[in-house]
Amino acid sequence: MNLLIASSEVAPFAKTGGLADVVGSLPKPLHKLGHDVAVIMPLYRTVRQNCKKLTPTKARIEILVGREAVSAAIMKSTIPGSRAPIYFVDCPQYYDRDELYGPKGKDYPDNAARFIFFSRAVLETIKALEMDVDVIHCNDWQTGLIPVYLKTLYKPDPALSKTGTVFTIHNLAYQGLFWHWDMKLTGLSWSLFNWGELEFFGKLNLMKGGLVFADVLNTVSKTYAKEIQTTDEFGKGLEGILCLRSHDLYGIVNGVDYDVWNPAKDPLIPANYSPGKLAGKGACKKALQKNNGLPTADVPLIGMIGRLDPQKGWDLVEDIIDDLMKRDLQLVILGTGMERYHKLLEHIAKAYPDKAGVNLTFDNRLAHEIEAGADMFLMPSRYEPCGLNQLYSLKYGTVPIVRRTGGLADTIVDCTPASLDAQEANGFSFGEYSTGALLDAIDRALAAYADRKVWAKVRKIGMKQDWSWKRSAKEYEALYGKVREKHRAEGS
Ligand code: ADP
Repeated sequence: MNLLIASSEVAPFAKTGGLADVVGSLPKPLHKLGHDVAVIMPLYRTVRQNCKKLTPTKARIEILVGREAVSAAIMKSTIPGSRAPIYFVDCPQYYDRDELYGPKGKDYPDNAARFIFFSRAVLETIKALEMDVDVIHCNDWQTGLIPVYLKTLYKPDPALSKTGTVFTIHNLAYQGLFWHWDMKLTGLSWSLFNWGELEFFGKLNLMKGGLVFADVLNTVSKTYAKEIQTTDEFGKGLEGILCLRSHDLYGIVNGVDYDVWNPAKDPLIPANYSPGKLAGKGACKKALQKNNGLPTADVPLIGMIGRLDPQKGWDLVEDIIDDLMKRDLQLVILGTGMERYHKLLEHIAKAYPDKAGVNLTFDNRLAHEIEAGADMFLMPSRYEPCGLNQLYSLKYGTVPIVRRTGGLADTIVDCTPASLDAQEANGFSFGEYSTGALLDAIDRALAAYADRKVWAKVRKIGMKQDWSWKRSAKEYEALYGKVREKHRAEGS
């Protein structure tokens, strides 16, 4: 099949979260399965810094955004470690900025225009480069209008007549909600602005467009696929639409790129190691302790990496921190995001200088160093569509402690005598979103750490598991096949 993956971020070119890792790594296994895969994203300022070789293509596109004619050149490079081409929509007025979406977790005021333009630019690029695309794989709200355009404005276009869409939800909490007059920027008919299509409580909802118009939908774990159809807490007001499309909604857990996240060959960590040769992990721990100003003692070290957002369970961390710090352990945290959590973490650093290392920045190398140097990795998420860090942790022998929700529930098996015997225990998990349940899970992990035999076993089970794209890429292949079937059936 000829596949085009459209995404607002792709590692290593531009990244704020897991979406970038997923889109940066999925093309390789799809290519191995025999498909032609290309990727397309906006040309942000960071792309120029992170991409050594950018070459122009013949394509130059122009799109009406409201009344303004906005043009872009299309540049090209390749996804590192593969031959998959990646196209960049070079429109400096929208994308040549310091941030991807806005400063300090806030949105740029013209985000509607920026991503309405991007969605349409994807279709114009296909036409300008005369690409032959069977399936466009859309990701999150920034690409939500692609399926809408294909079934409306671009429906009569023969160059796109065979092209179907899959829309992947990476996080339903970000929907691309804009005031209703931004509808004028889309060039679409106002008749689409109704509660069954693009309107959401009086606003324009770009994610909803993708959910209503894409041929097939999926999200990044089976449990999250179920959760988002149940309550408003998970569905964020879109649970009704998702229930209506239940038969077209699938769940596929993200895979890990073990060329990038693998302690045996990771160039970003102080020493390499593998399940049979763990000495390097000790060296990584010592270096992490030193770099965070912590004593190089033999105490359990808990790592945390993530956006400073209520989703990630920082409120629970706030509530347990004084209790937690009474225990014999160390904590190293890396994150950026909301101001109130910056303050919380600054307080933790000040109150517990010998026990906690806090890093309020976005630092990929440090993320690798924490995965390698910590003994345990904490993810007490309120909800978690898939989660990648727990999968990286497994490979790095850093035992995850997670809340049983979404992808965390699908990937982490709580350590009990029975799950240990069955060789399935790979971490510790808790169900209720409460301080008591969280502390209980941490205490069980600390007790297991103290029992070297048990700890070695849990760690080894995790390290030997295979969470690469092998299995998930095949599931995506099947999904693209469904898109094609459905699109053909609708066309005939
Ligand atoms: P989400 O996409 O919800 O943010 P995921 O667990 O799916 O969460 O993916 C997060 C990705 O972003 C991981 O690769 C993680 O290491 C990375 N990451 C998050 N915060 C930081 C940070 N402050 N510095 C470096 N990497 C980070």
